[in-house]
Amino acid sequence: MSIAEHPLSKYLRTELMPHIWCSGCGNGIILNAFIRALDDLQIDLNKIVVVSGIGCIGRIAGYLKLDSFHTTHGRPIAVATGIKLANPQLEVVVISGDGDLFAIGGNHFIHAARRNISIKVICANNFNYGMTGGQSGPTTPPKAVTTTTPYGNIEYPFNLVHLASAAGATYVARWTTFHVGRLIASIKKMLLRRGFSFIEVVSQCPEMYGRYNKMRSALEMMEWFKRASVVADFSDPARAEITSDRIVVGEFVDAEKPTYEELLYANIAQTTIKRT
Ligand code: SF4
Repeated sequence: MSIAEHPLSKYLRTELMPHIWCSGCGNGIILNAFIRALDDLQIDLNKIVVVSGIGCIGRIAGYLKLDSFHTTHGRPIAVATGIKLANPQLEVVVISGDGDLFAIGGNHFIHAARRNISIKVICANNFNYGMTGGQSGPTTPPKAVTTTTPYGNIEYPFNLVHLASAAGATYVARWTTFHVGRLIASIKKMLLRRGFSFIEVVSQCPEMYGRYNKMRSALEMMEWFKRASVVADFSDPARAEITSDRIVVGEFVDAEKPTYEELLYANIAQTTIKRT
């Protein structure tokens, strides 16, 4: 008896399965949403590149059967910038975690957003460094218990949608892994637009975050996302801090302005004309 192939398995390097993610992890939902967006849009797979950094979600670059790069810690945006400038016809998507993008890679993020280079960034925000043992990171909520904050986190976390919009991103959205349909719609929108685009996906890490914070299973974490989420499109991102009883989700910014690569290539063309 032959086993039918899953219609989306053509997007995966199935020879690398089973994946390394813990059962119930939100990363699988993000991977699924991304390939469903590619499939819905029938994106030319020769025109898309995925870049990731280090962390659990970073393995996504290996699992996708696309041109993909699993780079060093904090550097996926630097690599993506090089790829985009070398070949502006490519769609370059960075998929990485909150620690990778906003701790060690924070500078790359804010300057790529400021330049409005057409890189699309999806951040899996699981509130901790899951892969390396559940340490606190730049998005760990106040009072949260992690392996490095056993008495509760005393640091103020980044509000990622506020940070992205303040730095100049021209598309900013936040969803959780509970909002699969809206997340897919947002990824599709992002893939079709120009400029620096950012989607934060609040994602469950039951193994290294949930169980230290009274949510022992993926289901309990997703029940939190469902209970606390408030959809408020185009509300003020400065007022969208994530708390235990309020997660503002939606699109926050959708704006147009010339992109870095357009300005760069126009500048090169002008300089060449003047010289000849
Ligand atoms: Fe997912 Fe957390 Fe496990 Fe990493 S440690 S694979 S983020 S559940």
